[in-house]
Amino acid sequence: RRGSPGHPVQATPSGRMDPFEDTLRRLREAFNSGHTRPAEFRAAQLQGLGRFLQENKQLLRDVLAQDLHKPAFEADISELILCQNEVDYALKNLQAWMKDEPRSTNLVSPLDSVFIRKEPFGLVFIIAPWNYPLNLTLVPLVGALAAGNCVVLKPSEISQGTEKVLAEVLPQYLDQSCFAVVLGGPQETGQLLEHELDYIFFTGSPRVGKIVMTAATKHLTPVTLELGGKNPCYVDDNCDPQTVANRVAWFRYFNTGQTCVAPDYVLCSPEMQERLLPALQSTITRFYGDDPQSSPNLGRIINQKQFQRLRTLLGCGRVAIGGQSNESDRYIAPTVLVDVQETEPVMQEEIFGPILPIVNVQSVDEAIEFINRREKPLDLYAFSNSSQVVNQMLKRTSSGSFGGNEGFTYISLPSVPFGGVGHSGMGRYHGKFTFDTFSHHRTCLLAPSGLEKLKEIRYPPYTDWNQQL
Ligand code: NAD
Repeated sequence: RRGSPGHPVQATPSGRMDPFEDTLRRLREAFNSGHTRPAEFRAAQLQGLGRFLQENKQLLRDVLAQDLHKPAFEADISELILCQNEVDYALKNLQAWMKDEPRSTNLVSPLDSVFIRKEPFGLVFIIAPWNYPLNLTLVPLVGALAAGNCVVLKPSEISQGTEKVLAEVLPQYLDQSCFAVVLGGPQETGQLLEHELDYIFFTGSPRVGKIVMTAATKHLTPVTLELGGKNPCYVDDNCDPQTVANRVAWFRYFNTGQTCVAPDYVLCSPEMQERLLPALQSTITRFYGDDPQSSPNLGRIINQKQFQRLRTLLGCGRVAIGGQSNESDRYIAPTVLVDVQETEPVMQEEIFGPILPIVNVQSVDEAIEFINRREKPLDLYAFSNSSQVVNQMLKRTSSGSFGGNEGFTYISLPSVPFGGVGHSGMGRYHGKFTFDTFSHHRTCLLAPSGLEKLKEIRYPPYTDWNQQL
């Protein structure tokens, strides 16, 4: 499991084994040959990606079920269809995105032609996590290929079924002189990061994001960091509890809570909590039945390490709903915790599982103050019948994205950027934003070689200017 399939391990000049040197050299040569630049080549890669998704639909559903017990509906809407839409959108808009963008000039360059050219960076490295193992590898890949780059793709070693398909099947649909999948975990990723790369696109935890950014400084490589955090969800007193319960529970328990943009905790008054709890119980029963463990609509925790971490979090506060777990099945029931202290682990770390703590606040002002005391989240949700309250929350806080009376449905829209702010990341992608992320925006000014008389005014001696002062 070292390096790309079919590429032998090599020793670096320092004597250490480097499995990636060959692969990277091959990709760099392909990029330098100009092979990836024509629109036709880029379109062919995107079409290949589309065919990969179409022709392997059931296989992909199967491996997502194997890795995460993902229900087919969740796999389709959050992975397969979402990726396909991004491919289709990029194919439809590729020519327009690639076009030079003319820009206005001023008196300094009245007859010059000024434009922005979108150039590929070169060799880009995409590092993905395990929770949406297809979406979070392929959606960045769409933009990287559309922008004309060569790509090294590293799926998560933890979602093993999907990793295997990405390594063994996906390359058959792409030009392998310009694209490689590498396998491995922290050690291999670290080795790859020692090399000079032209762009690094990382999705994962803030902890590893810092490691990636530190490694990138060595070669001054630009990075996008798509990270995680704790996404607050404020619920105002005037809400209909059943509507809020349906929406919050769906977005919290989707993918068994292993979603970076899921509402991580609820902030509401004690009165709203009393009304919300029976509504949440009724929603959970409707979604997953009396015995959620036997429900086909609920996935499982990815591995034992994550399961044990989540089981510990069940000990925080008091269990109001759920709380059951089963180690051999890596099952955690959809759970709601109350009486939770801000200092407890469940309020200190990103939960990333089907556990929803409720923290009491007395007012929207107190909720805003609570949110602003913490790291800027990836997402923030506010539920209220009053648009004033929603707008107040929007105006007085900061987060990667914001949902008013709704969860993370915006994620399926290629028309809007997705990305964090502060501790939840830097950079943005989806739709044209991915293409732009993987393109250097090169300002070009082309002047006529003649007409020197017009330009002479700027040269020293600056006699006229000095006289005006
Ligand atoms: P992770 O940071 O542990 O791993 C992400 C990737 O980094 C994997 O490919 C892994 O092999 C690699 N990696 C791990 N340790 C490394 C190290 N020491 N050096 C170099 N590479 C290393 O994250 P994860 O557990 O796979 O995913 C969960 C995290 O990702 C959560 O924090 C979640 O919020 C975040 N996430 C963010 C987004 C987003 O779009 N912002 C999406 C999904 C997940």
